[in-house]
Amino acid sequence: RQGGPRCDKFSDKQIREEFETMCRQDKYAEMLAMRKKLPAFAAKEDFLRQLEKNRVVVVVGETGCGKTTQLPQFILDALIESDKGSTASILVTQPRRISAISVASRVSAERLEDGSVGYAIRGESKRTDKTKLLFCTTGVVLRRLGSGDILRGVSHVMVDEVHERSVDGDFLLLELKELLKKHPSLKIILMSATINHETFIKYFNDAPLLTIPGFAHPVTDKYLEDAISLIKYHPSAPRAGKKKTDNAMKAFWDEYKSLGLDDASITALHNITRSDGIDYHLIAAIVNHIASTAEKCGGILIFLPGVQEIRQCIDVIRPLFAGRKADIFPLHANLSSEEQRRVFVKTPGWKIIATTNVAETSITIDDVIYVVDAGKVKETQYDPDTGLSRLVEQWVTHAAARQRRGRAGRTQPGVCYKLYTRKQELNMAKFPVPEILRVPLESISLTVKVMREEEDVKLFLSRAIDPPKVAAMERAWSILQELGAVDEAGRLTPLGRHMSALPVDLRLAKMLILATVFQCLNPVLTIVATLSSKPLFLSPMDKRDEAAQARARFSTGGSDLLTDLRAYDECHGLRSKGQGQAAIRSFCEQNFISTTTIRDITTLRNDFVLSLADMGFIPLSSTPSTSALNKNSENLNLIKAVILGGLWPHVARVHLPSNRIKFDKVQAGTIQRENTAKEYKIFDLREGRVFLHPGSVLFGEAVWKSPFLVYFHKYLSSKVFLRDATEVCGGI
Ligand code: ADP
Ligand code: MG
Repeated sequence: RQGGPRCDKFSDKQIREEFETMCRQDKYAEMLAMRKKLPAFAAKEDFLRQLEKNRVVVVVGETGCGKTTQLPQFILDALIESDKGSTASILVTQPRRISAISVASRVSAERLEDGSVGYAIRGESKRTDKTKLLFCTTGVVLRRLGSGDILRGVSHVMVDEVHERSVDGDFLLLELKELLKKHPSLKIILMSATINHETFIKYFNDAPLLTIPGFAHPVTDKYLEDAISLIKYHPSAPRAGKKKTDNAMKAFWDEYKSLGLDDASITALHNITRSDGIDYHLIAAIVNHIASTAEKCGGILIFLPGVQEIRQCIDVIRPLFAGRKADIFPLHANLSSEEQRRVFVKTPGWKIIATTNVAETSITIDDVIYVVDAGKVKETQYDPDTGLSRLVEQWVTHAAARQRRGRAGRTQPGVCYKLYTRKQELNMAKFPVPEILRVPLESISLTVKVMREEEDVKLFLSRAIDPPKVAAMERAWSILQELGAVDEAGRLTPLGRHMSALPVDLRLAKMLILATVFQCLNPVLTIVATLSSKPLFLSPMDKRDEAAQARARFSTGGSDLLTDLRAYDECHGLRSKGQGQAAIRSFCEQNFISTTTIRDITTLRNDFVLSLADMGFIPLSSTPSTSALNKNSENLNLIKAVILGGLWPHVARVHLPSNRIKFDKVQAGTIQRENTAKEYKIFDLREGRVFLHPGSVLFGEAVWKSPFLVYFHKYLSSKVFLRDATEVCGGI
């Protein structure tokens, strides 16, 4: 399942003739006329000239100018026209699966589906002998490099969205920089929105820069203060004058008074800027204002920090548009491709899209005229000293805010509403912190070790654009030792090599390998797929208790993992019993189970089976239900032992105070314990007191069968929480 686009079977002449036939078709000419309007076309000759003279070229241009869809075709067409079509093998990397597929399908359409365009994402690819342009995720290329492939047949690697600075992206650049020495004809093109591109130019020894001039229409900014006074949004009763004694408040007051804001608006502004959350009613009021004052309908793009916020926002907006011509869509990376495609369809009425930052640079929706920017992003931060990660909601950076704003001026002048004041904007960071500086490094360290056994991993990583902190690299290394991926002498172990070949968290990779050895593959495949997906059980804000009860009905084995396994199996059982989609959907609805997650788990399970077969752990022809792999699949205690083996040393100890039954209650004849959650304390084996997440089926457990529990996820929010816990008992 490897290799890049190949075209040895066709001669240069054949390829050129086919291309010329395609060019003569009306449909192609029609598409070409549209493409020629893109700014990228004006830079075509310049781009090809630069590429002729240099091995690395950096291209920057505003989102939508045609970098992703046009530049790869320029290279391909030029090669075909100069009778070198058979040498063309162009990889274009995309940071996300969604963009790899959607861009490939767009470019394929522009070439009349002639077979020259394909895509490859983990576990899924579409390509033929004719494929010369392959859109793939960064991960796919990294895995190829990881298996020792030095991209020999590849003529060009185009790295898209380099400004995003993901760990994978930075790692790919590091690898490509080394590869330039080994692969004398390889050319590299870095494509970026206009964000901090000097960094890349410097990294590739002053590579030439090509700037594609923008064609953006003007966008009017409406900051929070403007929006509030414009739409007269006054959520709370004005408390004018009350706080004027407070100096800060007075300064605030004077400032906005001098700008002409009325009292009620200033109070509202003060309240909103002092509160943390997102004001969905304000967003709804803005959207309503736009829709009731605009002359004609258009697209409204609302940027929010996450999927949960998107859901809440849509819930508030939808009733406002009842009876009006409006389509309201969520947009985020976890939607199915079909759901994602809906946002591109032109609609006669209002099109309102609540999105995460995927619509910032990599997805272009043409008919957007208005942007509402909530101004927040969620970002993981990692503390190498404690090994704790936390998801932190932060203000966007200037760079991201500018991208969001730019989405409004694509096809005509637009307006950008910002949920922050001019003053707040001054304090925002300029650029996002590269991911490599704020996540754990076990996985990347192991990948490096597998790819370069002889090399010092820390030394290698220190050649990245932004070298990670030494403490973070050291912590990662000691975790790899604990997991058994490397030995004390720093050598890669066979286990480590296999773990790195599985496209999943390292601990879960280990669990899968153990499951093949201990012959309980089927349930562990589901457990690993579930832990790699979004939560199986939904927990809507307004129905939290009901949702928790639904999950509790599946509770089994003193384990969140086994509980989810049971729910998945029951749902899947309906299908094998021949029940239709409707029955499955209603089962999921009744039990607060996410159908999307069920689907994801099934897909992931298949991915893992393929990977395990590739590695020789299970026979190629076998299905995961083959009995030899599942002799022990009913043995819950063995499965728990495999879970423990995979997640070790993520273990905590449960302390039960001896006096937990209150005397007076016993006297009253009620030995029932109230508030049991407070009666036990949990201590991590390494670091002090931790707390079980209330969503766990073990939360509030009255009778503990074992003083130990093993967990997958530990994170810091108000306290240190454990999630996805399993009681571990003896006796297999
Ligand atoms: P860039 O990579 O510079 O951000 P793209 O090459 O992705 O720009 O997009 C160029 C143009 O192609 C967009 O402005 C849009 O008009 C059009 N386009 C891209 N994807 C699609 C699609 N899936 N459907 C229709 N038009 C598209
Ligand atoms: Mg692009």
